[in-house]
Amino acid sequence: MASEQSWKNKYQQVLKEAEQQEQQCKEQRDLLERMLVRTSVASEGQRPELDRLLNQLRADLRRKTLNAKKWLHLQEQIDRQIALLDEKPAPPHDETAAPTPSFPAPPNDGIDISDQDHRLLIARHVGQLLSKVLEQVTLEPEAEAKAKELQQTLLSSIDWSTLRTSLESVSELLIRAITRNQRELEAFLTRLNARLETLREHFSQQSDCNSSRKDDTAILDREIRGEIDLVSEDLRVGADLDTLKYSVGKRLDQIASALGRFKDKETERESWMAEQLESMQQKMAAMEASSEQMQEQIRRERARAMTDLLTQLPNREAWQERLHFEYNRWQRYGHPLTVSVVDIDLFKRVNDTYGHKAGDRVLQLVARELQGRLRATDFIARIGGEEFALLLPETSMNEAVSVLNKLRGYVEKLPFHFGGNPVSITFSSGLAQFVRGDSEDNAFDRADRALYRAKATGRNRVVAN
Ligand code: GH3
Ligand code: MG
Ligand code: MG
Repeated sequence: MASEQSWKNKYQQVLKEAEQQEQQCKEQRDLLERMLVRTSVASEGQRPELDRLLNQLRADLRRKTLNAKKWLHLQEQIDRQIALLDEKPAPPHDETAAPTPSFPAPPNDGIDISDQDHRLLIARHVGQLLSKVLEQVTLEPEAEAKAKELQQTLLSSIDWSTLRTSLESVSELLIRAITRNQRELEAFLTRLNARLETLREHFSQQSDCNSSRKDDTAILDREIRGEIDLVSEDLRVGADLDTLKYSVGKRLDQIASALGRFKDKETERESWMAEQLESMQQKMAAMEASSEQMQEQIRRERARAMTDLLTQLPNREAWQERLHFEYNRWQRYGHPLTVSVVDIDLFKRVNDTYGHKAGDRVLQLVARELQGRLRATDFIARIGGEEFALLLPETSMNEAVSVLNKLRGYVEKLPFHFGGNPVSITFSSGLAQFVRGDSEDNAFDRADRALYRAKATGRNRVVAN
C-alpha cells in the first residue's frame, strides 16, 4: 500500500514537472515568435522580394501552420535575398555622370575570397555583366540559350560548386563566341582571296590569248606576204599567161586557207574567251553575294551593339558616336547645339511598389513617347537605368527648354495604370548649350549638374544651366 502511495506521488510529481516544462516551452516559443515577427518587420523595405518572403513568414506564424519542409525552403529563399543585400545600394543620383552601371569593386587580391558572401557577390556581378554582354554580341541560338541559363544560375544559385562551374562555362562561352567571329571573318577573307586569285588568272589568260592572237596575225601576215611575193616573182620573170593564171590561183588558194585557219583559231579563241567571261561573271556574282552577306552581318552586329535592348533606343555607345559627330559640326558651323539629360523621377519607387516588370514597361513607354515627339534631326539615347540623353542641333537653350517642357507635359499625361490605379510618371531634365571653348563633354557635365538642381528643387522640372 505504502509502495502504491509512493508511486502515485512520484507519478503526480513527474506530471507536474512535465506540465511546467510544457508551459515554459510555450512561453519561450511565444517569445521567439514575437521576436521573429518584430525582427522581420524591422528588416522590411530593403528588397521587395525579401518583404514578400517575410510577409509569408509572418502569415505562417499567425496561422500556426508551420511545416518544416516548407519552412526550410522559405529559409533558403530568405538566405538568397540576404546574400543579395550584400551588394551596395543603388548609387546616389550624381552617379548619372558615370557611363555604365557601377558594380561594387571586386575583393582585393589579398582578401580571402573563400568567404561565401564574396563568392556570391562575384557570381551575381558576372551574371549582370553577362546580360550586358548578351545585349552586345550575337551568339548562335544554342549558345544564346545556354548563356541565358548560366545567367539565371549566376543570379540565383547559392551553391558555390554550381556557381564555379557556371563561371567557367561563361568564359568558355565567350571565348567560343569570339573565336567563332574570328573564324567567320577568316573564312570570308580566304574566300575573297581565292576569288581574287581567279580574277588574276582570268586576266593573265586573257593576256595570253591576246598575245597568241598577235602571233597568229603575224603568221597570217607573213603567209600572205609570202604568197604575194611569189606571184610578183612569177610576174617579174615574165611567165606565160597560163602559168601566171595557175600561179595566181594557187597563191589565192593558199591565202584563203591561211585566212581560214586564222579564222578558225579566232573563233576558238572567242568561244574560249566567252566561256571564261561567263565563269568569271559567276564567280564575281558569288563574291558580291558573300561580301554583301558579310556586310549585312557586320551591319546587324553594329546596330545591335548600338541599341538598347529594352527600349530599342540608341545606347551609350551610339550616344558617344553621335555626340562626336554633332560636336564636330558645331565646331565647324557654329550653329547652336543643346544637350539635355533626362532622369525619371522616383523611379525606384515604381520598381519597389509595382515590381521590376512594371518599371521596365514604364521605361519602354517613356522612351517611345520621347522619341516619337522629337524632330528627325534630334537624337535621344538611353544612357543608363532610367536616364536618357538628348542632342538638339540647331536649337538654342530657350528653344530647348520649351521642347523639354513640352516633352515633360506629354510624359506626365501618359495613362499608366498599375493594379487598377492611375499612376503619373514624371521626369526632371537639365540642359546646357555648347559654348565657345567647350570640349565634347563639358556641356553634358553642365546639363547633368542642372539636372541635379532640378531634382533638388522638387523634381518634375526642366532646369537650364
Ligand atoms: P530620382 O528622382 O532622384 O532620380 O529617384 P530615382 O528613384 O529615380 O533614382 P534612383 O537612382 O534612386 O533609382 C533608380 C532606379 O532605377 C534604381 C534601379 O533599380 C532602377 N532601374 C535601373 N535600370 C532599370 C531597368 O532596366 N529596369 C527597371 N525596372 N528598373 C531599373
Ligand atoms: Mg538616375
Ligand atoms: Mg531617377
